[in-house]
Amino acid sequence: MNPPSPSAPAVRPASRRRPFDYLIVGAGFAGAVLAERLTSQLGKRVLLVDRRPHVGGNAYDETDAGGVLMHRYGPHIFHTNSEEVFGYLSKFTTWRPYEHRVLACVKGGLHVPMPINRTTLNLLYGLDLEDEAQAEAFLKSRAQPVERIRTSEDVVVSQVGRELYETFFRGYTRKQWGMDPSELDKSVTARVPTRTDTDDRYFTDRFQAMPAQGYTRMFENMLDQPGLSLELGVEFEDVRDEAVFERLVFTGPIDEYFDHRFGKLPYRSLRFRHETLDREWAQPVAVINHPDEAIRYTRVSEYKHMTGQAHPRTTITYEFPSAEGDPYYPVPRPENQALYKRYEALALETPDVHFVGRLATYRYYNMDQVTGQALAAFRRIAEREAASA
Ligand code: FAD
Ligand code: UDP
Repeated sequence: MNPPSPSAPAVRPASRRRPFDYLIVGAGFAGAVLAERLTSQLGKRVLLVDRRPHVGGNAYDETDAGGVLMHRYGPHIFHTNSEEVFGYLSKFTTWRPYEHRVLACVKGGLHVPMPINRTTLNLLYGLDLEDEAQAEAFLKSRAQPVERIRTSEDVVVSQVGRELYETFFRGYTRKQWGMDPSELDKSVTARVPTRTDTDDRYFTDRFQAMPAQGYTRMFENMLDQPGLSLELGVEFEDVRDEAVFERLVFTGPIDEYFDHRFGKLPYRSLRFRHETLDREWAQPVAVINHPDEAIRYTRVSEYKHMTGQAHPRTTITYEFPSAEGDPYYPVPRPENQALYKRYEALALETPDVHFVGRLATYRYYNMDQVTGQALAAFRRIAEREAASA
C-alpha cells in the first residue's frame, strides 16, 4: 500500500477494516471506469459504493416484469467520435449497430423528423425543396440575425427563425428546463443541429451502437476485477468515516460533497412513467418528441427499437420534467457556472479527492464524454502514482 499523503482522508479503525487504496463513490460511467482502471492497471484495492441498489448510474437497464429490456432512467443511446472511448468500452461488451432516429409531434399530430432537415420543412410547409441549396435559401429567408449569440433562443432563431423555433424548441425547452430558452446558455439547444439535407439521424458520430447485452451487463463485466469490492445501497456518508482508504474518487454532485457550503447548485430532474403494452410496437421510431407546451411530457421512448429485442410486448417511457427528484441535468447558465467554479476551487484545494463525472464536474456530458473524462483522470492519477513511487 502506498504511504498516505499528509492530506489524505483520515484513516480510522472501524468495521470496514480491510484497507482500500481508493474509495469510489458512484457506480455510473465515471466511477466504474476508474474502478476498473485502478484495479486492472495499477493493482489497487478499490471499494466502490453507490446509494442505488444497482450499478450503471443513469445508464442502468433491466428486463422489466413484462420481459422487455428497458432503461430505468430514460433512453440512453451510445454515440461517440472517440476511437479511444469506443475501443475501451469494447473490452467489456460487443455492440449492436444502432442509428438513432427521432420524430417530433407538431401541429396536433403531424410527425416530422427532428433535427429539422429538408424533409421536415417539406412536410411542415407542403413544399418541394429539392436540394440543399433550396433548403438553405428557405431557412435563410426565415432566420433572424442575432448580433451576439448567447442564449438557447439566439442559437435557434438565428438559424431557422422564430416560427420554427416556436414550433420545435420553445415549448420543449420551457418544459424540460422550467425556464425560457432565452435564460439558458446557447450550448443547450446547440446540441441539436439544423440540416439542409435529408439525413434523419439524431447523431452523426462515427461510432453509433448499443451494448449488445445491455449497459448493466457491460458494467458487470467492467467491475468483475480482482481487488474490486462493490457495495450497493450504501451512502458515502455511511462509509466515509468507517471505511479505511487513502484516496477518494467522488462522482456525485459536487455541492453535496461540500455540504452546499456556497448554496445549492441547480440540477434538473425528471419523473419517468414506464408502461408495458400488450402489443408488439407502439411507435415508428425509438423516440417521439413533444414540443407542445400543453402536453406535460417532453418525449416518449420505445426501447425495442434501440435494443433490437424481439418480444410480443413493448415498453415505453414518458418523461415528465421536474424540479424535484434525483439530479439528472446540470443547468447551463452563467450564474450556475460561476457557483460551480467556487466549488471547483475548493476541489482543487483537496488533491486527494478526485471529482469526476457529470454531477461532480457540473457538465452536461454524454456517456462517451464522461468515459473520456474518467480515462483522462486515470492517466493523471497513474502519473502521480508513478511519480510518488
Ligand atoms: P451518474 O450516472 O449519475 O452516476 C453517479 C452515481 O453516483 C449514481 O448512481 C448515484 O446514485 C451515485 N451517488 C451520487 N452521490 C452519492 C453518494 N453520496 N453516495 C453514494 N452514491 C452516490 N448520454 C448519452 O451519451 N446518450 C444518451 O442517449 C443519454 N440519454 C440520457 C437520458 C437521460 C434522461 C439522462 C438523465 C441522461 C442521459 N445521458 C445520455 C447522460 C448519461 O446519463 C450521463 O452522461 C452518464 O450516465 C453520467 O455518468 P456519471 O457516472 O457521471 O453519473
Ligand atoms: N430540444 C428542443 N426540442 C427538441 C429536442 C431538443 O427544444 O425536440 C432542446 C431542449 O432544450 C433539450 C436540448 O435541446 O433539452 C438538448 O436536446 P437533447 O435531445 O440533446 O437532450 P437530452 O437527450 O440530453 O435530454
